[in-house]
Amino acid sequence: MSEDKEKKIFRGRIKVPYKHTAGAYVERFITEIGKNHKIMGVKCPKCGKIFVPPKMVCFECFEKMEEWVELGNQGTIKGFTVVSHSTPVLPLKPPFTYAIITLDGASTDFVHIINESDPKKLKAGMRVEAVFKEKPRKRILDIEYFKLI
Ligand SMILES: [Zn+2]
Repeated sequence: MSEDKEKKIFRGRIKVPYKHTAGAYVERFITEIGKNHKIMGVKCPKCGKIFVPPKMVCFECFEKMEEWVELGNQGTIKGFTVVSHSTPVLPLKPPFTYAIITLDGASTDFVHIINESDPKKLKAGMRVEAVFKEKPRKRILDIEYFKLI
């Protein structure tokens, strides 16, 4: 009998629970949303682009960004997808819609839930406004959703 045939193999999964820090920028971003109902971005000192969610370094010029700017709570839908199949990781029961939103004053896009799930009633260019959760939990879902305006 060869050595390989003597080995027993047990298949299974090992759970490895972990936590990781969100980092200083995401921490401030989430805190401003929950406590003050403000959506904040950071501005690049070189190219002037405003990033939301905030990043430490500009993707274009690699400059460190430290100037925080308040964006409005409104924006424009750039694209969307209606989620119709359920999986355990979704924040809501389908159907619901994820939209790519360009907040007023931002240079980057932001993905979040909007309050319309009928694709016939949605199109790029529509305006939306953030609706904040009454009891924040320090999560991105402290913006409960964006409503059509
Ligand atoms: Zn830049």
